[in-house]
Amino acid sequence: MVKKPPSVNDLALSVEDSGIPHELLVQEARLAIAENDWENMGERVKHLQRSFIQPVVNATGVLLHTNLGRAPWRMPASDFSSNIEFDLESGNRGSRQTSIGNLFAQLCEAESAMVVNNCSAAVLLVLSALASDQGVAISRSELVEIGGSFRVPDILELSSAYLVEVGTTNKTRLIDYQKAIDAHRDVAMTLKVHQSNYKIVGFTEETSVEELASLKIPLVVDIGSGLLDSSCPWLSSGPPRWLSGEPAAKQTLLSGADLVTFSCDKLLGGPQAGIIAGRSDLIEKCLRHPFARVLRPGSHTLISLQELALHYLRRDGEQIPFWKMASANLEELKIRAESMNMGEVVNLDSVPGGGTLPTVVIPSVGIRLSGDRSWELRRGFQGSLPIITRVRDGDTFLDFRTIDPAYDQVIATALGGLG
Ligand SMILES: *Cc1c(COP(=O)(O)O)cnc(C)c1O
Repeated sequence: MVKKPPSVNDLALSVEDSGIPHELLVQEARLAIAENDWENMGERVKHLQRSFIQPVVNATGVLLHTNLGRAPWRMPASDFSSNIEFDLESGNRGSRQTSIGNLFAQLCEAESAMVVNNCSAAVLLVLSALASDQGVAISRSELVEIGGSFRVPDILELSSAYLVEVGTTNKTRLIDYQKAIDAHRDVAMTLKVHQSNYKIVGFTEETSVEELASLKIPLVVDIGSGLLDSSCPWLSSGPPRWLSGEPAAKQTLLSGADLVTFSCDKLLGGPQAGIIAGRSDLIEKCLRHPFARVLRPGSHTLISLQELALHYLRRDGEQIPFWKMASANLEELKIRAESMNMGEVVNLDSVPGGGTLPTVVIPSVGIRLSGDRSWELRRGFQGSLPIITRVRDGDTFLDFRTIDPAYDQVIATALGGLG
């Protein structure tokens, strides 16, 4: 005998303790009844719950996991008004860029700096403000896609600057830039884009920042990942070996770049945002361009970024979750993995991720569970946080470098629940 479906309202009320707004439950109940699936209402509600944005435990070994929000970073307490555009001294209107810009200028040893929503926005604003209807010289080896559809030629087109391609895919020399600038006359700037997520190997030649700085037009370097200073003064152990060769904001400016652009949620380790730092007359032009208004970050981002900048100024990498996990030593990772008393403790390779340092691995330690247990861990155990793992060769791996030690108990409980 076919069971009679419950009423929409009764079915919605039966899952009311999920905490999901009644209106959404009614909609789900209607669908469940229409699909003859009302007996699965509990599972359907969990499915709905999992679709909400929520904290998860990153056990993947990818430090800057793009799908997990790149760098882990806390939210500021948010239920207050702020002086974001108000000058407490004079009581007049202020600029949201001044204070945060000064902090980042200090950190990059630049004249000036400003913040936008991400690094793509930073590049778009710089091109629009400094080169609209003019040429931008770029090496053919740097006409790249960074991922998430940031493509240099597309951003250029959007800014209504035009592309002046220089050199070849594998070799670009200073003389190639010089020739291109002479041939086009209205080339407004040179853009150098860091090869964040790929490497060109073999018969190659690249023009250095120092060389490009000798050209008579502004040089903008999109360094991408936001390493502030190659000597990492915020780390007591100094720069990790795997970081070598990654361009840093301070050194790129010292080498003669007029502006640098970078993301705040990659190696900088903060919230999603983008920084433009360098010559104050060029930053001034960016601030005055209408896109500055379109691309401006909100107060939560700025407060959170300010907190990050202050940690850097105090040289306190311990307070920056990304650097904490990047510099955790193998012995402490091993002790944490062993304390789980589950699976097999194994050596692993973490990767920086987030489209940075494509060939780099960072030694790590984790747990191997036989078989694919990823779904059981991902769905959250008895209301605990979803744990995102990596499955390789049919086994499941939890990399302890990317797991915040504050979540070790969550992991222990979930592993215990696997049976
Ligand atoms: C990551 C990256 C970008 C894009 O940055 P978003 O902050 O994701 O917009 C641009 N340029 C380079 C070189 C990058 O590495």
